[in-house]
Amino acid sequence: MDANARAPEPRSAREVTIEAMVASALRSAELAEALGLPHDRIVLSAKVSSVPDLVEVYRRLAARCDYPLHLGLTEAGMGDRGIVASAAGLAILLAEGIGDTIRVSLTPDPGAPREREVEVAQHILQVMGLRSFAPQVSACPGCGRTTSTFFQELARSVADHLRAKMPEWRDRYPGVEELRVAVMGCVVNGPGESKHADIGISLPGTFEEPVAPVYVEGRLVRTLRGSDLTEAFLALLDEYVEARFGGRGGKS
Ligand code: SF4
Repeated sequence: MDANARAPEPRSAREVTIEAMVASALRSAELAEALGLPHDRIVLSAKVSSVPDLVEVYRRLAARCDYPLHLGLTEAGMGDRGIVASAAGLAILLAEGIGDTIRVSLTPDPGAPREREVEVAQHILQVMGLRSFAPQVSACPGCGRTTSTFFQELARSVADHLRAKMPEWRDRYPGVEELRVAVMGCVVNGPGESKHADIGISLPGTFEEPVAPVYVEGRLVRTLRGSDLTEAFLALLDEYVEARFGGRGGKS
């Protein structure tokens, strides 16, 4: 034996665990096929509860087989922690084109419904640009240019309006789930963002004239003012939805 030959580096416990999980999934599929299950009836899913391990396991599975992969972080946790962990892990894999179905596992508060998991999964797919489920409202975070909470209240009113209308709009206006609405807090920086949305409004900020320009597909269409601004903007939003998505063969 060559006295200078170096012994291979010992594999870390993490590496052993990840490789064992990948090998086990592939071996299980192989055995299932040997027992007669058709190749195209198999979907692989691995139970992983850490984000870096989830990414590594699925990258290896994607490189070594062509079975559809079902992604999800097990025991993601409660509240914000669970949502952030699931979004972080799934977003990396989805951005790499890995994954065919997803699930989000959140620990609900006692007595709380489980729909939150589905909503979070839909948000992940929508923000990754993979599938649209509902119109999106972009709202600025607010800063020193905003003196009141009106931009937050208007953003909330718009989101509530869209949520209330969607059961009807979904059938009537095919494609409406791709709608993008912007609610911005000042007319200095707001118009830029508003112009990138399908329809957007910029509210007056600190020391600005009390007017609110409304942009539709990048063009200034109206300047709102007065105390009924919320109702006026929602009416313009409804008009825009009818003009753009009506007549697409939806059920009236
Ligand atoms: S749009 Fe205006 S109010 Fe909103 S964060 Fe930007 S600068 Fe501030």
